[in-house]
Amino acid sequence: MKNKDLLVAALQNGSVIDHIPTDKLFTIVKLLELEKCDEPVTIGNNLESSKMGKKGLIKVSDKFFTDEDLSRLAVVCPNMRLTVIRDYEVVEKREIVLPDTLTNLVKCANPVCITNNEPMKTYFEVDKLKGLVRCHYCGKTQKIGKIILL
Ligand SMILES: [Zn+2]
Repeated sequence: MKNKDLLVAALQNGSVIDHIPTDKLFTIVKLLELEKCDEPVTIGNNLESSKMGKKGLIKVSDKFFTDEDLSRLAVVCPNMRLTVIRDYEVVEKREIVLPDTLTNLVKCANPVCITNNEPMKTYFEVDKLKGLVRCHYCGKTQKIGKIILL
């Protein structure tokens, strides 16, 4: 079976996340809580990719991810690809990009930051060029890809 077949094979409604780095696949599975999902889930890893060498792919029937779900994924791994399918038609195909700000997704790495000591939401600004997020409250930066999610 070719990757292309795996990607499009008989998904009537649902979502496909593609271009997943192989070492991030199971992190993504966990983040999306797919172990709790009752719908058919296809998880592929070490698939051939002309762009990446090898890649992972996740296909979930009757599941449509929220912007918040996708932001969480982008924090762990930018530039994966989302395809949304309805009635066997691709209705959306786009890169999963980081939003400009992240509200209550990321834990600040500064132990004395107010967000680690008060019951409040965290708020980070994203610097995509530098690949950093910056805590709005204490200014501490963290590298995207090394971030701890709340
Ligand atoms: Zn902070």
